[in-house]
This record gives sequence, C-alpha cells and structure tokens, in this order.
Amino acid sequence: MSLIPISDIIERVRSLPVRSIALQAPEGLKRELPVLAEALRAEGYSVILSGDPCYGACDLALDALEYADILIHFGHTPLMDHPRVLVEPIFQPERIPPLDSVLPLLTGEVIGLISTAQHASSLPLLAEELKKQGFSPVIAPPSPRTPLPGQVLGCTYTAAREAKADCLLYLGTGVFHAIGSRIATGLPVISLDPYTGEAGVVETDRLLRRRFALIEKARSADRVGIIVSQKCGQNRMKLAEALLPLHPRAEIVLLREVTADQLLNLGYPCYVNCACPRLGLDDQIRFPVPVLSPPEFEILCGRREWDEYEIDEIRL
Ligand code: SF4
Repeated sequence: MSLIPISDIIERVRSLPVRSIALQAPEGLKRELPVLAEALRAEGYSVILSGDPCYGACDLALDALEYADILIHFGHTPLMDHPRVLVEPIFQPERIPPLDSVLPLLTGEVIGLISTAQHASSLPLLAEELKKQGFSPVIAPPSPRTPLPGQVLGCTYTAAREAKADCLLYLGTGVFHAIGSRIATGLPVISLDPYTGEAGVVETDRLLRRRFALIEKARSADRVGIIVSQKCGQNRMKLAEALLPLHPRAEIVLLREVTADQLLNLGYPCYVNCACPRLGLDDQIRFPVPVLSPPEFEILCGRREWDEYEIDEIRL
C-alpha cells in the first residue's frame, strides 16, 4: 500500500491552477513517486521527479520549479512558506506501545513529550496514558521550524526546552533526536520505541568524549574551511561570516552536498559545519578530518569553554 495518499493529492492539485508538477521525496519514499506520477499523468498533468538526495524540508528542489508550476515535497513538515511549493508530511498511524518498560525510568512529575514529525500525532495518546499513571505530561506548542506540538528536528529542540519539564520522554526510533534533546536541555531523557516498546535512558557521555577528542585533534589544523550550505533551509552565511574572524586562516566554502570526497578534494585539515547540524555528528566517521559544529569551533578558538558546550541548532 502506498504511503502517499494518491487520491488526496490529486484532489488538492485539481483545485490549483497548475498543469505541470515536480515531485520530491526523501530516500525512503522516493520509490513511491513514479506511482503518483503515473496517476497524475493520467489526469492530464505533466510530471517530473527530483532525484537528488533529500533529507528534510530544508532542501526543497526549487530548481525543479523552472520546469513545473508547483513542487510537491513529501515526508516532512514545512519549514518555510513558498507560493509554489506544497509540503506534505507523511504521518504514521497513531500508536503507543505498552508503557511497562518506560514508567520506572521516568523521573519527577512533569514529563515533556517530544517526537519527530512521523510520530508526533501519537503524543496526545501518550499524554493520556501518563496522566492515568499520575504524571503531568506536557506537550510544548509548535515553533516556526517545528509546526507540530512536541515536534523536534535534528536542528531544532525548541519543544524540548519549552516543555519546562523534570524529564523528557522521546517517542521515536533512533537516538539522534533524543541525544540532541538531552544536550539542548540538560534534562534526563528517556527514549521509547513506538514499534517495539523498548525504552532506555539516553546517555551522551560517549558522544561528548568523541567530540572533545575531535576538537583536540583539530588544534593542529593550520587552515579551516567553514561550510555553508546552499540548501534553502540550511543556509547560515551570517553565522559563517561571524565565525570567520575567529581563525587567521579560515575561508567560507559553499557546498550543496557535503561528502567525504568533496572534503578530501578541498584539502582543509579541519572544517566547521554551518550546513545541517546532523552532518558532523552523524557522519563524522566517514569524514577524513574533523568537522566541528559552530559551538565546537568556538571552543577550539578559545571563545567558549568546554563546559559551555551546546548542541548546534538552526535559528533562522
Ligand atoms: S537541517 Fe538537517 S536536521 Fe534540520 S530539517 Fe534539514 S536535514 Fe533535518
């Protein structure tokens, strides 16, 4: 069964004055696009697909608008308004697993509930169950980059901070968002897998030790490339310009995709990542040299102490 609601999309498009449509989706949904394209073509529209890698609504394929009246971007929540772009999130059905394993791990009374876009619609259900157990759950309101209540992104933890909780409960898979929320708030964070019910206390010590070692390694770098993304929702040129004077031999490098090959070819012994904040943390293992976040670069340059470490967030 298609995750993309094809008949709903066709209905929406019919109400718009458009004849040509570009479609974009992240890797996990890309294979659904040809099916939708076929259905739209049967309705008389001309359709093209964006095949480039895509990881968020920060990376709208605006170049495709040269060939189409509108772009429909699937799989994320909107980060910005654009008159010719529709952003269509794909929500997982509301579900919460049994809470037996998570309840003993929660600390305090006020529990901030956070999740990614896929599972954020299940947070009210989770809140109901926690209330029955005597907790006071809080779901923070939306922020400009996270339009769903309780939603966090790998570059925005406003909902984790705004919950003003004793403890955070992250509903989702993977640990990146949970680790980010822990560093962003300093609060205990418990993760809960919506499919398996597996729960765990989120630890950041190993990650922070690795980041400390990376900063130390970067001390021998005589030149620094400050990466600025050309993707529409990631461009932080102002931040890069503010960081530039911190190092006598730093340059700003514009990049569309940040890959190990490109970093190798550019030849800098250290980079500062002003593109997607997840890049340096998730992909450092693939990169040939240290790729520091802006706060880590400030630590390297003596502008910030290690105990003032912060997770990098995009505040556009
Ligand atoms: S900048 Fe990175 S974390 Fe933020 S929305 Fe884009 S891909 Fe996701």
